[in-house]
Amino acid sequence: MKIPPFTTEEETKLLKPEIMQEIARVIDSGQFIMGPDVKTFETEVAEYLGSKHAIGVNSGTDALVIGLLAAGVGEGDEVITTSFTFFATAEAISQVGATPVFVDVEQDTYNMDVSLITEKITEKTKAIIPVHLYGHAVDMKPLMKIANKFDLKVIEDVAQAFGSLYQYKKVGSIGDIGCYSFFPTKNLGAYGDGGLITTDNDEIAEKAKMLRVHGAKKKYRNEILGFNSRLDSIQAAILRVKLRRIDEWNEGRRRVDQGYKKLLSDVKGVILPSEQSYTTHVYHQYTTRVLDGKRDELQEHLKERGIGSMVYYPVPVHKLPLYDFDLELPNTNKLAEEVLSLPIFPHMNEEKIETVANAIKEYCGSGN
Ligand SMILES: *Cc1c(COP(=O)(O)O)cnc(C)c1O
Repeated sequence: MKIPPFTTEEETKLLKPEIMQEIARVIDSGQFIMGPDVKTFETEVAEYLGSKHAIGVNSGTDALVIGLLAAGVGEGDEVITTSFTFFATAEAISQVGATPVFVDVEQDTYNMDVSLITEKITEKTKAIIPVHLYGHAVDMKPLMKIANKFDLKVIEDVAQAFGSLYQYKKVGSIGDIGCYSFFPTKNLGAYGDGGLITTDNDEIAEKAKMLRVHGAKKKYRNEILGFNSRLDSIQAAILRVKLRRIDEWNEGRRRVDQGYKKLLSDVKGVILPSEQSYTTHVYHQYTTRVLDGKRDELQEHLKERGIGSMVYYPVPVHKLPLYDFDLELPNTNKLAEEVLSLPIFPHMNEEKIETVANAIKEYCGSGN
């Protein structure tokens, strides 16, 4: 049995007839960019997420760039974030002319250690970007307290955490702006690129809407420097179909977590992901820590048995060539050597969970 790290095979089997019908309907409508499907999706997703405004854009990366600009972040500003994330988080900060300032992460949640933010604040600091990595919320209450005290904007990177909760609120609806990605492998994935900006702030929403269409409120009355970053109608129509299943599918991922925890909690040398009481984890990734320098060996062992696994991310952002910052980020550096993400997808069945668990037990049994 071959087990990929992620697959849309089962979801395609379930949804293909409905999605083909929706695609045909959009083609017949002749409206391919923006249009009524995008509007309807924006209304439905805003309601789901508990935000006043939802603005569809071209990708999660664009959501971050436009979000930062709409929040007034630009040349010479500093933005506090994490180095243990996908490059796009820091890239967006640099794209708007600001500088990312990296704080270390907690080794159990993999998320930014909120207690380290204050010491990084300077007079140039304009915003914080918490990244809800792998689907686990950042501890937002103390973070918002710091942001309010120092008058900083909070732009949440929710690319990996669609539907995840912080206490009783959806992540992305707590700070000033939420930035989402609909890249096909994300929890709510389109069949192409897509992204979303959410906010309760009318001014930020208006600015973001202008930025996505060449800086214009009215066609051919361009006022500011903007982008071409619209959401396609076909993607919006597909996302509407999948949005109706997202809770069920996130629940499916939580079921996979339960399965892994049942089978693997007493395995030595592999630490399973934790879930703090303030969040409802949506397990975008099932990221474990493999101790004693054995990560690559375990990954090879799984590969030999047809089991795919991934390393998100082997090089922390601050060590990539664009930054190459010499920083003391001990947890970040350590995790980059230890993390291994096991297969997870909403329809993963018991047999597959057991196959992965047995292969891990086999390795740990003989390896220790
Ligand atoms: C995927 C991802 C992005 C970028 O989203 P795209 O839609 O691929 O542009 C940004 N931040 C994080 C944490 C991501 O995982």
